[in-house]
Amino acid sequence: MPDEFLHDPRIAYFSMEIALRSEIPTYSGGLGVLAGDTLRSAADLDFPMVAVSLVSRAGYFRQGIDADGRQVEAPAPWRPEDWARPLSAKIAVEIERRPVWVGAWLYVVEGQRGGRAPVLLLDTQYAENDPRDREITHYLYGGDDAYRLKQEIVLGIGGTRLLRALGFEIRAYHMNEGHSALLGLEILRRYRYPAHELQSGESPYDLPRVRARCRFTTHTPLDAGHDQFAYELVERLFGDDESDGYVDLPMLKRLAGEDSLNMTRLALNLSEYVNGVAERHAETSRKMYPGYHVHAITNGVHPFTWVAEGFRTLYDQYLPGWCHEPERLARAADRIPVEALEAAHESAKRALIARIAAEHGRTFDPERPILGFARRMTAYKRPDLLFSDLDRLRAIAARQPFQIVLAGKAHPRDQRGKELIAELVRAARTLGDAVPTVFLADYDLRISQLMTAGADVWLNTPLPPLEASGTSGMKAALNGVPSLSVLDGWWVEGCLEGVTGWAIGEPGGAGDAPALYAKLENVVLPLYYARRTDPSGWRRVMQGAITKNGAYFNTHRMMRRYAAEAYQR
Ligand SMILES: *Cc1c(COP(=O)(O)O)cnc(C)c1O
Repeated sequence: MPDEFLHDPRIAYFSMEIALRSEIPTYSGGLGVLAGDTLRSAADLDFPMVAVSLVSRAGYFRQGIDADGRQVEAPAPWRPEDWARPLSAKIAVEIERRPVWVGAWLYVVEGQRGGRAPVLLLDTQYAENDPRDREITHYLYGGDDAYRLKQEIVLGIGGTRLLRALGFEIRAYHMNEGHSALLGLEILRRYRYPAHELQSGESPYDLPRVRARCRFTTHTPLDAGHDQFAYELVERLFGDDESDGYVDLPMLKRLAGEDSLNMTRLALNLSEYVNGVAERHAETSRKMYPGYHVHAITNGVHPFTWVAEGFRTLYDQYLPGWCHEPERLARAADRIPVEALEAAHESAKRALIARIAAEHGRTFDPERPILGFARRMTAYKRPDLLFSDLDRLRAIAARQPFQIVLAGKAHPRDQRGKELIAELVRAARTLGDAVPTVFLADYDLRISQLMTAGADVWLNTPLPPLEASGTSGMKAALNGVPSLSVLDGWWVEGCLEGVTGWAIGEPGGAGDAPALYAKLENVVLPLYYARRTDPSGWRRVMQGAITKNGAYFNTHRMMRRYAAEAYQR
């Protein structure tokens, strides 16, 4: 490990997935993008962090869409040696009573001002491992419960041991979601009192000391999003031999639930500081976990990464230093000529239109608004809401034409998610030229950059309260693109009606299709088309998105809050 990373104590940031760049498919969606943006901000701010994740050599998957709208999944293998360098240290964890050797690749995130943040991508593909164990770190969110628990042992316990073997001094451990909660067991073991120092009946575990080292961010109010494992499986994988194995089962049950190993419970009980990823989400989490103090630190996105080229140039020229202090974007309306902002948007829109033409051979009209919708395709995100009444959609477009661009992957085992993709593709075909609609395949960082900057309106229709935060609308805001969204997740905080975008439905409501159509037809499209005679209304919304939301909903602000409130305790 290069010395530069070993001088200062660091925050160890554990995440099952991390989006480092489009060429490295070690992420599936928002959780990984947030992890990547967090490390990018740490590098920009020179904040001492080290990330721990899995190498996921087989990638998540490459998405194709066949003629019937079916998602076709191809492996997305990548070669760690092309982007990262192997570290020589290895440690062993015991799984099914076999030692599993865990090593890592070092990827370095480089900041805008020379800051560097190390990322360890854990690997088990070594000759000394049993062939069964070599693939533990291959498939992101692949395999059965046993496979997943093995991955979580490698991530939480293996990662913690490897950090120590590499010589890192760790100030605090941050679990980005519950997948890495087993790291707490390793630290419990580390601080265990030797038997001869104990009175009879006294616990050997120093829980307060462990809690003082751990922080936990929960990311979803969906039960299915919380890992649970049967204790029979736990016993099979961990072994019951205390000397070689981990902590004893009775104590684990006290911390993680009597019925099954609930990783969220474990993380909650082992962490002194717990937070949700938006105000609304923290409220929901407090109801789900009564008795725990759940703080709120609203997510953000990394400024430089999510600002399109044309806007970067403008921000550099008029708001120098914005990359380090994105709060300066609050001055965009006063400093940057609004025609220049419009020109930057037009260039981002042209890039998106070119991509659509290249993939679908269809020509989108730059004079007409483009609605963008892209995210993980899964039921609660309701990607079908916009298409629930195609006649209504056609009728709206007949007077005020608009176009739609869609993208998103469904998890290979999310049948409903896949059906939704097929429904979207069918709707696109049915709408034909009445409402030009395309689905871009293989959603990734690059497509997200193109879409969030190139669309005119960013649409989001989750079923409240299930969207913990959502971040793609924040990417849009940095590029002057307003959101049209149900009031859930970050939008509860970000929506200033008619200033940063628009709400679908009432606060506290579900936001249904009639509300969506009404807002689109009566407010959003008329304002867009009014540009022909009076561009000032749309310009104000564009400026509002940047100054009010771009300036705030970014990972620099988020990191500074984590540093001051979660880590510095
Ligand atoms: C930003 C992003 C997401 C998360 O989008 P949400 O709005 O939070 O659903 C998912 N996938 C990719 C590739 C992204 O860039």
